[in-house]
Amino acid sequence: MVLGLKDIFKEYTDKNPKVYKELAAQIGEIRDLKKLVDVIAANLLLTYVQRQELLEEVNLMRRYDMLVSRIIHEVQVQNIKEEIQTKVRQRVDKNQREYILREEIKLIREELGDDSTVSDADEFEQAVERLKAPEEVKQKLAKEIKRFRNIMNSPSETGVIRTYIETMLEMPWDKQCKEHKDISYAKKVLDEDHYGLEKVKERILEFMAVRALTKKGDSPILCLAGPPGTGKTSIAKSLARALKRPYVRISLGGVRDEAEIRGHRKTYVGAMPGRIADAVRSAKVKNPLMLLDEIDKVSNDYKGDTFSALLEVLDSEQNKKFRDHYLEVPLDLSEVLFVTTANTLQTIPRPLLDRMEVIEVSSYTENEKLHIAMEHLIPKQMERHGLKKKQFSVSKKAVWKIARSYTKEAGVRQLERKLADICRKAAKEIFEKKKTNVHITERNVHQYLGKELYIYQMANETDEVGIVRGLAWTSVGGDTLQIEVNIMPGEGEILLTGQLGDVMKESARTGISYIRSVGKAYKISEDFFKEHDVHIHIPEGAVPKDGPSAGITMATAILSAVTGKKVRADVAMTGEITLRGRVLPIGGLKEKLLAAKSAGIKTVIVPKENMLDIEEISSEITKGLAIIPASNMDEVLKAALVKSKKQRTAQE
Ligand code: ADP
Repeated sequence: MVLGLKDIFKEYTDKNPKVYKELAAQIGEIRDLKKLVDVIAANLLLTYVQRQELLEEVNLMRRYDMLVSRIIHEVQVQNIKEEIQTKVRQRVDKNQREYILREEIKLIREELGDDSTVSDADEFEQAVERLKAPEEVKQKLAKEIKRFRNIMNSPSETGVIRTYIETMLEMPWDKQCKEHKDISYAKKVLDEDHYGLEKVKERILEFMAVRALTKKGDSPILCLAGPPGTGKTSIAKSLARALKRPYVRISLGGVRDEAEIRGHRKTYVGAMPGRIADAVRSAKVKNPLMLLDEIDKVSNDYKGDTFSALLEVLDSEQNKKFRDHYLEVPLDLSEVLFVTTANTLQTIPRPLLDRMEVIEVSSYTENEKLHIAMEHLIPKQMERHGLKKKQFSVSKKAVWKIARSYTKEAGVRQLERKLADICRKAAKEIFEKKKTNVHITERNVHQYLGKELYIYQMANETDEVGIVRGLAWTSVGGDTLQIEVNIMPGEGEILLTGQLGDVMKESARTGISYIRSVGKAYKISEDFFKEHDVHIHIPEGAVPKDGPSAGITMATAILSAVTGKKVRADVAMTGEITLRGRVLPIGGLKEKLLAAKSAGIKTVIVPKENMLDIEEISSEITKGLAIIPASNMDEVLKAALVKSKKQRTAQE
């Protein structure tokens, strides 16, 4: 028992350095259990109550038990205490270590002159305070800045958040510019920038007046529709100048991913705001004029619905809270003035078209092109190429020749490019050969532009059988196209060549059926189509052609070939044909008439129902053209076929 007690006490003294060291030696000597128990009890670190308990126990055995269990208890308490202490110390040590390390990094960064992260977060916070924005935006920013601070040690993540915060701070949430409402100023600006386009300018001024009167933005969205190069983009730019609003342009041509409009979520690698949000950011105000260029060229694919995103952008009910995936907070687009452009309205979905007010911009006549070139394009290009008035001039006839022989278009874009070519070459001559001035005339144009690119297919000289000139409408304006028909002995086959589209093939068949049905009147024998093949060809076979408007042209050519009657060479025609020989109206009349005129045609046959359109076309185009309305094939043929001598004398 003595030995046991001594062992336990040793353990106790080891844990309690406060107990005298000398005591150990003293105790080692003691052999008597009673004395040992008493000495140890007296030297334990106990409370008075505990000491009293020991003192009151008279029985040695029980006092021994009591003492031993007391010491064991104390040792255990001591053990637990130590355990906890080590754990706490370990944890404190780790925190301490990190703190010190972080401080060191900061110091190293400072030494390297790269203390950006910490100060950036501070700067961001100050910027948010200065930012004029809805509360929602500010809260979102505060949250992101906090995250930015917390993940300071991971550069890849800070990069993403930094870009996000910077983008958010750059958005013009509540910043706007004052709108200019002076209509006479606007008129001046529009006239300054563009020649002609009277109707378009008038519509724009009306639009401005309504906006000024109704005070608020709920005005319809303008859609400028017309062939390329007719000044749609540039008139939108002028409108921005007239309203003194910043101008931003988004090209929608070929956009087919919804994310391009609406942005990617920022968890996506390399995420960015969509084009709309980005345009607002670059405008730096929330009410810019935003041009959505080529809205007809947007397409849908599997990556979500581009059109519905655009609908949301253009709908005044919804665009107050436009959702961009990247920004995550709603963006107010209701103050933006949207203007869209399109080459054709056919590919724009109905709901989108319903939200827009269409202003048609049509192709230019040669006279208009001349004016535009002389008054706008040439001065603009001269300035761009550093040419002074004394050094460079272009004659009217030269411009006319460039427009005719070097370009083929509805607008003036190619013309502008050709003029730029000439300016560049002139600049070189003046600089290199020390010429004092360069004058461009009809005769020396080819020295600058090379040989003529387009030779107008002029009207045929003589009247012929089976050849009729039709009028077509293409994306670059109008054109004439010759239709040739040959009849040869065969088995009633119908051959169609020249890359005709389905619609055209069908109207060729309709034409033949019509002629067969009225064969008697033209003295065509009943077996004629059984014993002959009909071959219809449209030259320039490499160019695909389609559309219903060549119907009457083909029918006339077939009839001429079958009956051997000649067709007048100076006549051109356009119109859709029905099975019963009725003539239906067609589109693009202005462009077609322009083309007919350029080709030297004197008489044009058009569907009767199109006569209302003719009234709207300026007299500059219709002057010198005999326009014959036709409501059925009889009238067409009467005008197109060369009259026999007998008929002529009868008429006279
Ligand atoms: P679009 O957008 O219709 O395809 P642009 O606006 O790009 O055509 O016009 C092409 C060029 O022709 C521009 O440089 C423009 O300034 C010029 N232009 C077009 N129409 C006119 C006009 N009526 N008056 C002056 N310049 C014009």
